[in-house]
Amino acid sequence: MSRLDSFIRRVSAQRDCLNDAMAQITGRPGSILELGLGNGRTFDHLRASLPDRDIYVFDRHVKAHPDCIPDEAHMIIGDFRDTVPTAMTRLSAPAVMAHCDIGSGDKALSVALAQTLGASLPRLLAANAIIVSDQPFEVASWEQLPLPDGVAAGRYHIYRQK
Ligand code: SAM
Repeated sequence: MSRLDSFIRRVSAQRDCLNDAMAQITGRPGSILELGLGNGRTFDHLRASLPDRDIYVFDRHVKAHPDCIPDEAHMIIGDFRDTVPTAMTRLSAPAVMAHCDIGSGDKALSVALAQTLGASLPRLLAANAIIVSDQPFEVASWEQLPLPDGVAAGRYHIYRQK
């Protein structure tokens, strides 16, 4: 598979998993968490699909496309390991969905980051919240959900908080 094919599969899987999760939370109250603003692609997809939700975005810096930058109240800047544990005071309501797009080029570091966030992220989530992630998590209170058709195992991950 070429690098172009691989990129297309990755972003298609990401979009399919986000759409699947958004369908699952239909009609359920709660905010949305986006860990990893990056250039704002997935934030833009979430806000276009969920215009009435409070979407809180986390990143260590704001380097997104100028059209894809959250307002100050919804942008939580700093290292995830500092901001996630204390973010509940910033949220209008516990989150009904979280998207973790936290990977860097270093797989071991990205998995370790997910491992660390597994201790604090659940506290921001409502019961039955859906978590979509580019990294695997091992959280006792989360159960793994099936991926949408066509998304290869391990390419993306979907969990539900019990
Ligand atoms: N979702 C984005 C998009 O669609 O454009 C891409 C996100 S990019 C893969 C990952 C982002 O996570 C980067 O912007 C990086 O700055 C951020 N990030 C990685 N580790 C972090 C950490 N420990 N604390 C805060 N931000 C971090």
